[in-house]
Amino acid sequence: MQKFEEYLEKILVPFREEYRQKCKNDSVIGGFDKYAINWLDRALSVCPARADVKERLKVLREKFVSYPRLLPGQRKEALKEVHWEIKEILSGSPLPSGNLRKGQVEKKRTNKSKIVHRDKQKKPGPLESVRKLGGVGPRLEQILARMNIYTIEDLLFYTPREYRDLRKIRSPNNLKIDEFQAVKGTLGKVYNRRLRKKLTITKSVLYDENGSISLVWFNQPYVRRLLKPGEVYVARGKVEYRRGQVQINSPEMKLFKKENLEKRMVPIYPVTEGISSKFLQKIISSAVAKYADSLVEVFPEDFLRRLNLMPINVAIKALHAPDTPEEAERALLKLRFEEAFFLELILAGYRRKIRQKVKKDRYDINRYLVKEFEDSLPFEFTDAQRRVIDEILDDMLGPHPMNRLLQGDVGSGKTIICIFCTLAAARSGFQSAVLAPTEILAEQHYYRFREHLDKMGVRTELLIGSTHSKKKEEIKRDLQKGEVMVVVGTHALIQEDVNFKNLRFGVIDEQHKFGVMQRATLKEKGDTADFLFTTATPIPRSLCLTLYGDLDVSIIDEIPPGRQPVKTMQVYPRQKEKVWQLVEREIEQGGQAYVICPLIEESEKLEATALEVEYEKICQRFPHRRVQYIHGRMSGEEKETIMNDFARGEYDILVCTTVVEVGVDVPGATVMVILDAHRYGLGQLHQLRGRVGRGEKKSYCILLANPSGDSAKRLATLLKTDSGFEIAEEDLKIRGPGDFVGLRQSGLPSLRFVDVLRDYKIIAKARQEAFRLEKEDPQLLKKEYSRIKDKLKRKYKKIWDIIH
Ligand code: ADP
Ligand code: MG
Repeated sequence: MQKFEEYLEKILVPFREEYRQKCKNDSVIGGFDKYAINWLDRALSVCPARADVKERLKVLREKFVSYPRLLPGQRKEALKEVHWEIKEILSGSPLPSGNLRKGQVEKKRTNKSKIVHRDKQKKPGPLESVRKLGGVGPRLEQILARMNIYTIEDLLFYTPREYRDLRKIRSPNNLKIDEFQAVKGTLGKVYNRRLRKKLTITKSVLYDENGSISLVWFNQPYVRRLLKPGEVYVARGKVEYRRGQVQINSPEMKLFKKENLEKRMVPIYPVTEGISSKFLQKIISSAVAKYADSLVEVFPEDFLRRLNLMPINVAIKALHAPDTPEEAERALLKLRFEEAFFLELILAGYRRKIRQKVKKDRYDINRYLVKEFEDSLPFEFTDAQRRVIDEILDDMLGPHPMNRLLQGDVGSGKTIICIFCTLAAARSGFQSAVLAPTEILAEQHYYRFREHLDKMGVRTELLIGSTHSKKKEEIKRDLQKGEVMVVVGTHALIQEDVNFKNLRFGVIDEQHKFGVMQRATLKEKGDTADFLFTTATPIPRSLCLTLYGDLDVSIIDEIPPGRQPVKTMQVYPRQKEKVWQLVEREIEQGGQAYVICPLIEESEKLEATALEVEYEKICQRFPHRRVQYIHGRMSGEEKETIMNDFARGEYDILVCTTVVEVGVDVPGATVMVILDAHRYGLGQLHQLRGRVGRGEKKSYCILLANPSGDSAKRLATLLKTDSGFEIAEEDLKIRGPGDFVGLRQSGLPSLRFVDVLRDYKIIAKARQEAFRLEKEDPQLLKKEYSRIKDKLKRKYKKIWDIIH
């Protein structure tokens, strides 16, 4: 991250020289343009994973490429623009050290957008470098930079890790060990003792009528001169029990006099080497004193009042020096709310953007089609499926493109709904594309779709990397001619040069592989097509509001009838033989088994080898059974053949890696044996388990594992419940949200104050407000919202550009 900024700064270095030399492109030997491109490329190579920044850098690069071709006058303009843009980028992420004159940047920006309240700000503002603060020199600046603190604003928003509640002053006989406390008592004699050459100990006691406590300082002999034995003091510090004594190490001493008695909460900051929390607190409180009041509150006053939120200056003061824990909590509430609010505002913007579009042509669907389709199935839809189909049909028939997330546990019957949708589209003469995350899944889908669509007279094709090139050409041609109505494939399908005659419907399977930004791009390409995203990884509600806040949501909360829950067992590896006996019994009764081999993350090759070893062992154990294996290094064709043969019942046991993790449907499979189950994530285990229990027979999932710690928790959850939603919530608790469904790759601003799990209520409230505002004034034209707009444009420029 720091490198990135360093490189960008490098580009700025010769700017002034270049400008002074009348933009002759020779301020740097070899050409100013080459110099800039060189550093830009480096910056690009370490660019933070934010797509918007990357895009902006690429635009800059183009400017430099064309720089030599410009006339001097144009170059001047170009220079100004580039300079401006680089600074913008730098200010979007933490501001780098040193010579950035941020005040100027601020002024220029406000001139542009004509926002009055910033024009008046003449004196240095909170966006300036920490160097502006008295006492912060280059060394401290470096240390702060390591903590991502570059500007005064960064300091102001640097959040304490915890607070020590020192409001209560205790008596020496009434202390809790290992806690920070304030103790009052009379100070005893203070004496220094030199133990070794480099070690001096200063000791004393603090006592009252009920008891006493030892005070100890190391290598601070001067303390003795500062203290007055016989006076009443308040000592603050961590109370410890050492060598039979209750003591405080290096306590902070204050004379107990009513008038200067401080009852306070002490903020404790996360720090890095070279700086203490206490010192940081000093710097921060001087920054707060000087700058907190020049922070700009973005929300209108009545808004704050209605939501009972502190104004930002009050919140920042309270954050660093609260009087009570409640006050600290309210300060944090404000920061969290504001962060969540902007996130939701962005999502609301995306939603509106998509919904503004009007479909080119409308479907011609008769709702009777549902009945017709159902009649072709060996089962009836569940109520949940029926409800979801209605929701989707409403969207399809409506004037605006659909943008819907379909959630449902494994086996809840999502795929069949997708099939119905493509049929409905085809009946209106529209093409559909079905995107799966892997080739093997695409193939599986392809067969499922054909099974239902062939008899409905809808031509369906599979287009994946390993499709024969001649066949590919044919499919592409027929897609363009509109002769293929449904095409199933991987993501490449929409990226490659595949042209449709009239693509109007897209199904995107296992949607958690996409972020908000990717979805937005996808929709740009798909123009006004309807999109249905499906996922079998249930998303806890709080995350759903953040990660998928731009989508409508349909949930299938009912499993088709007649299914028996999968019996899940955890077995220790030494009891493996018992497991094989169960497998044998199941096969005898006509079932089939999966054996999932440990995944080896470092190498697919190692994984394949390990798998083949396991396969050999199983062949020896089951000489009379048909055993096959499959892994990720096989070709698509090979995998396809094996999976299909397995599905047709031509093998009894399939030894495999997690290639079967998603979607593959083999109704005859009744046993799932997972080796080294403790090495998998909860979601993954749930998915794997979902591969069995698809038919009417009783099925088993056996987890072979030696679990401990988190893995024990995971397995216990799996044994306890088969609800994907419960499992997802648990997963989130165990792993924390960062890890979960790629919050980072979502393309949304990263969250600093909000914890999506803990702050569910705040997010929900913020969402309500953001959506209300977005409805009331989508362009944020009203004066009272100008500061919200300003912040949105300043902090999330790229996103702003997309949604406005
Ligand atoms: P998902 O895609 O949600 O994992 P599928 O659509 O693949 O679920 O359905 C799983 C299995 O259940 C399939 O074999 C499917 O044919 C069957 N199925 C779907 N809906 C029903 C239903 N309403 N009643 C009985 N079986 C169903
Ligand atoms: Mg499915």
